[in-house]
Amino acid sequence: MRLDVITIFPDYLRALDLSLIGRAAGEGLIDLRVHDLRDWARDRHRTVDDTPLGGGAGMVMKPDVWGEALDEVLALPADAAAARESAAGRGRRVLVVPTPAGRVFTQRTAEDLARADHLVFACGRYEGIDARVAEHYRAAGIEVAELSIGDYVLSGGEAAALVMIEAIARLRPGVLGNPDSVVEESHGASGLLEQEVYTRPVAWRGLDVSRAWPALLSGDHARVARQRRNRAIARTIARRPDMIERLRPDTLDAADRAALARGGWAVPDGAAGPVELVVRPAVGADLADLVDLAARTFPDACPSFLTAEQIARHVAAHLTPGRFARWLADPRAVVTVAALGRDAETRAGRVGASELIGYSAVLVERNDDDGAPPVGLDPRPEGVTVPPAPDGGAGLAAELSKVYVDARLRGSGAAAALLAGAVRDAAARGVTALWLGTDGANRRAQRAYRRAGFVGAGSRTYDVGGRTCRDIVMVLNPQEAAGEY
Ligand code: SAM
Repeated sequence: MRLDVITIFPDYLRALDLSLIGRAAGEGLIDLRVHDLRDWARDRHRTVDDTPLGGGAGMVMKPDVWGEALDEVLALPADAAAARESAAGRGRRVLVVPTPAGRVFTQRTAEDLARADHLVFACGRYEGIDARVAEHYRAAGIEVAELSIGDYVLSGGEAAALVMIEAIARLRPGVLGNPDSVVEESHGASGLLEQEVYTRPVAWRGLDVSRAWPALLSGDHARVARQRRNRAIARTIARRPDMIERLRPDTLDAADRAALARGGWAVPDGAAGPVELVVRPAVGADLADLVDLAARTFPDACPSFLTAEQIARHVAAHLTPGRFARWLADPRAVVTVAALGRDAETRAGRVGASELIGYSAVLVERNDDDGAPPVGLDPRPEGVTVPPAPDGGAGLAAELSKVYVDARLRGSGAAAALLAGAVRDAAARGVTALWLGTDGANRRAQRAYRRAGFVGAGSRTYDVGGRTCRDIVMVLNPQEAAGEY
């Protein structure tokens, strides 16, 4: 690859003699030449600028000087070997004009330009280069890329050219010692930021990697890879939600979706990408929607042998406005609702941002002043034992009663997000045994609970509309699981 840089400050580019790029040039992997624009100036003072037409502050770089310089430099032969390999014969040549008014230079741009054979950088100064220069070469059939390195203004194009050359050259074969280095980097094919990296010592100034990220030192490659990916997802959520929105659903497996969901992003089936989820405590104004959602979602969790009438009888008796109103007024009942952050198309229909799409309820097993438990709390199944609190004090049980999600959002991760929220809420309230009963035949639900860390704890019988059903009982200690979320 041949790189030519035209500038009025050739010394500025001497930084490229150093480090990886300098070594690559020394080994002939890239052919880098820097030219002084003033060599093409025609007057005694080697003038390259003039006042702006129409008046205004600053100076503008003259098109005639740039024209002569570029005619000559663009005509130079590209790297001979690269040109031979290129189908175009002469190779691909690009005139790069750094400008804050350009398209933003990204890793994709670097990857694209790394495939060219000859790059010519035209470094502006003052108010920039007369706009006809880019226009002329484009009209003449030259590929012209006016590129910005970010939304801020530098005094000249040299620093921008340095940035672009470094990003492009390291992608050329042989420039990096270990070509794998570029595979999992930030802004790579995964569309995620790279996770945090660590080296020895394992514990430094009270910061112990083995405690914060135990999987990292487990030696179990699959576990290490999974945790790295989860951390990359969490970091991208925290720092670059715009990148999360651009993730392609076909690149996300179930574990990715769960990690996204824990960070508040759902991937609805059929949507173009992840959609932010709003998970918040239910309030009085949600009551009517909540009752409606409960009636809509309860049948999905029922065994197939139940009749519509039995289900309707259960809903009418238990999922009433009165029941939800009492929960909303009771601090021992933690009702959480979810909605999408914006309207979304799903395979099963459009979902509006104003709609409630899921809810969870955690009922803490604690009696009130009259000695009564929260309304609707089922008897704790025999198989559920209540471990002590981390400080050795008495443990506390709570029923997760349960997580329900609108069928249109099935598989989106919304259930995992609500579940993660319920575990966090239970942990904050001192719960040490969060248990639930779920239909024995509903393997999908059991898988989801297992993925979230729940383990089997026997079974129970459960009445729905006069018909006895068998539930699998599952339990988790939120105090131990909290770190995972
Ligand atoms: N008047 C110009 C404008 O507002 O768009 C700014 C000119 S700037 C002071 C001078 C030169 O610095 C530009 O011609 C360009 O070469 C370079 N430059 C400044 N900011 C840049 C950025 N964000 N990306 C790439 N080049 C930049």
